[in-house]
Amino acid sequence: MTDLPALTAQALEQIGASDSLPRLDELRVHWLGKKGVLTEQLKMVGGLGAAERPAAGARINAAKSELQSAIDARRATLEQAAVAQQLAAGRIDVSLPGRGEVTGGLHPITRLRLRIEELFRNAGYEVADGPEVEDEFHNFEALNIPADHPARAMHDTFYLDNGMLLRTHTSPVQVRAMRERKPPFALIAPGRVYRCDSDVSHSPMFHQVEGLLIDTDVSFANLKSVLHQFMEALFERSLAMRLRPSYFPFTEPSAEVDISCVLCGGKGCRVCKQTGWLEVAGCGMVHPNVFRACGIDATRYSGFAFGFGIERLAMLRYGVNDLRLFYENDLRFLAQFARG
Ligand SMILES: [Zn+2]
Repeated sequence: MTDLPALTAQALEQIGASDSLPRLDELRVHWLGKKGVLTEQLKMVGGLGAAERPAAGARINAAKSELQSAIDARRATLEQAAVAQQLAAGRIDVSLPGRGEVTGGLHPITRLRLRIEELFRNAGYEVADGPEVEDEFHNFEALNIPADHPARAMHDTFYLDNGMLLRTHTSPVQVRAMRERKPPFALIAPGRVYRCDSDVSHSPMFHQVEGLLIDTDVSFANLKSVLHQFMEALFERSLAMRLRPSYFPFTEPSAEVDISCVLCGGKGCRVCKQTGWLEVAGCGMVHPNVFRACGIDATRYSGFAFGFGIERLAMLRYGVNDLRLFYENDLRFLAQFARG
């Protein structure tokens, strides 16, 4: 047999000098593997005399376990060194200045909606909500728009397969409110509405605010006063306001609401098409047919309703000239509204 102590010493020296885990594994295979040096030694024990075999086997096994311990210890050392090296490479310098945090902000449409809600809440109005998927009754019939009414064609409605539709205006909320509440009450209903329409000033989804006040002796003068005060509060300046006769199926009489141009002060500019006026809302006194459809006594109560587009007011309030900017969600655009 080869000199076992010399072999063991040689193996221990190589293990101690190994500088990587792959190299250590090579040594393990070389010394202890199936065809390793010590395994070969064990095989030779069979050729010894019966008296020598047990002692020789024991010596070789002792040498094997000594090498195995040395390999295990060396592996632990090399693994620790690898971890330490990784930590050193990825070290964080806590003394460097931070990159700062970008604070998010509300979308301009949301921001303006909250402002509108606040102004009306301060005036004693409730903020009401209703479903965006509506039926024909709430979106049309109860609002004095029967099936053959030409106003239905103006609404470019999205119909759903189950006979329901996407509400084309927030007016169904006033129908629901009238059927659920007893007068007097005052509410606004802000929300999303949908129409098959898309260009520079139209989006298939946009936001409206509906307003409704019902009490005894409500007059057109009350309506004009509420809208005028609201517009001045929203734009934070004194404005001229005028009403032009118009037509809506659910109000009678009806009017379009113009304010003096907030961009040129009424002198005339591109936005107001040189007229000095901006159309900002529609309004009127609640039609008796709507009261009837909602179970309210039209001989006892009167009421006014108004509606406007939040996008339209946001474009004027923030000086935005393309409606689509509100929906592209370009951060360079949105970040301008993040504060203030
Ligand atoms: Zn103007």
